[in-house]
Amino acid sequence: MRLLLLLLLTLSLFQFGNAQNQVPQIENVQTSYSDNILNLSFDVIDAENDLVDITFSAGDDGDLELNLDVSNATGDLGTNLTPGAGKSISWDFSNYSGFAPDFRIMITVDDNQPVDFQALANEIDSQELLNFLTAIEGIRHRNTGATQLSSVQNLIRSEFESSGLETTTQIFGFGGYTAENIIGRMIGTADMTNCVIIDAHYDSVFDSPGADDNASGVSGVLESLRVLSGYSFDKSIKFIGFDLEEDGLAGSNHYALNLNPSETTVAVLNYEMIGYYSNQPNSQTIPPGFGTIFPAQVSQINANNNRGDFIAVSADLNSTAISAAFQNAAAYYVPGLTSYALDIPVNSTLVPDLRRSDHASFWDVGIPAIMISDGANFRNPFYHEPEDTIGSLDTTFMAQVVRATTITAAQLAGIRHAATYWEDVGLMNSARSPQKCQFQLSPNPTKEYFRLFSNECAMTDLTITIRDVNGRMIKELQINGSDQEIVADISDLIPGFYSVQISSSNFDTTEKLIVQ
Ligand SMILES: [Zn+2]
Repeated sequence: MRLLLLLLLTLSLFQFGNAQNQVPQIENVQTSYSDNILNLSFDVIDAENDLVDITFSAGDDGDLELNLDVSNATGDLGTNLTPGAGKSISWDFSNYSGFAPDFRIMITVDDNQPVDFQALANEIDSQELLNFLTAIEGIRHRNTGATQLSSVQNLIRSEFESSGLETTTQIFGFGGYTAENIIGRMIGTADMTNCVIIDAHYDSVFDSPGADDNASGVSGVLESLRVLSGYSFDKSIKFIGFDLEEDGLAGSNHYALNLNPSETTVAVLNYEMIGYYSNQPNSQTIPPGFGTIFPAQVSQINANNNRGDFIAVSADLNSTAISAAFQNAAAYYVPGLTSYALDIPVNSTLVPDLRRSDHASFWDVGIPAIMISDGANFRNPFYHEPEDTIGSLDTTFMAQVVRATTITAAQLAGIRHAATYWEDVGLMNSARSPQKCQFQLSPNPTKEYFRLFSNECAMTDLTITIRDVNGRMIKELQINGSDQEIVADISDLIPGFYSVQISSSNFDTTEKLIVQ
């Protein structure tokens, strides 16, 4: 019997000998605190029992960075530790008592194994893409498709939340409509104030089910997330569903013009229609003037009888390094995909056809961005038509595009063969409800006034307490209204750093404010 078991074990080792090394897992995290000691217990699982490095960090809840001094933390921390159950970490945070109403804590467990990029690429699955497409397809316009629009917003939010992203909704008014950019941040482990963005717009025009435009792009974002969420990254990765692309890029414009000044966006990978493929001759038309601007690419397409069987990656002068990273990822890991780099050799405003999506909002504020696209109306005959349905799309091609994009993001963000766990731990007010309200405070930095909005919590019976850096109360405002947005007058504040505590009977959160 024992011999048989051994034989089976040996066989299975042979069978799975080439399987990729599994990323370690952090499970059963328990958090407790008493006096000024925070105690964490957790299990570390590693399929291969590799030795692991365990690190702990903490920050002020709401900050981009986890930069508090935790060098006095003790427990299962350090390098070359054995995985297993019952790990613990204790941190004496006396130095920070009174510093903040909340801490954000993070544990990282790294087995220092190399990432198998080919295996990562192969995790992208055309069936998963089809499932996402099926859930998203349908008119998603504020006037003619409000139900599907809101269902897709909820789908994006729930995928972000269930993948452990810090999920926020940036809202802004557009006519009588409240637009929503849905943002999920995978918090980086080292360079967390730097981020790579993977985005797509989720709205459609008023009479099209928008399968290619742009359910395909949103499916790409969600499938990239599904695979990347199994790893950790040095930089943060933000997954964004933009609203109102079809209305003059209003969603991405709002985002790009209200950037957090503490955050640096190093690259934007914008999916704009990635599902339409054809290997029929003359299925691809070439926009006017492209033969002059991109002679090599156009002659290759011509030589291939103008088949629409490739992905086009557009970059402005500032974005060619990202475009090159995409081409390399495609060439190494997705050999079946033909990809053309359209690096615009002049100011992008001279090639308006390549500015027709959300990447252009980033180009205009100097952030490197690429548009990843099947060519829209220059290939897809159903562009902005009721016939833009899943049946016209090719999910095998889509999977190839998403593989190259996902590898590009992983490399740009500094992928690690590591697991990350983070949590916001309330310390000062243990009676607080678990409900978390996300507030957007803008402009910030500001003078004279700020706006505060929340799409999750009503602004009724709200107390806004403004404190200076020494914790002294400078101003208190009582708000009682039903608006989602309020404007606070702070024209009497001198320039400097302030904290803005927003509290009511069932929530309590603090934001930073810079007055210029
Ligand atoms: Zn579009």
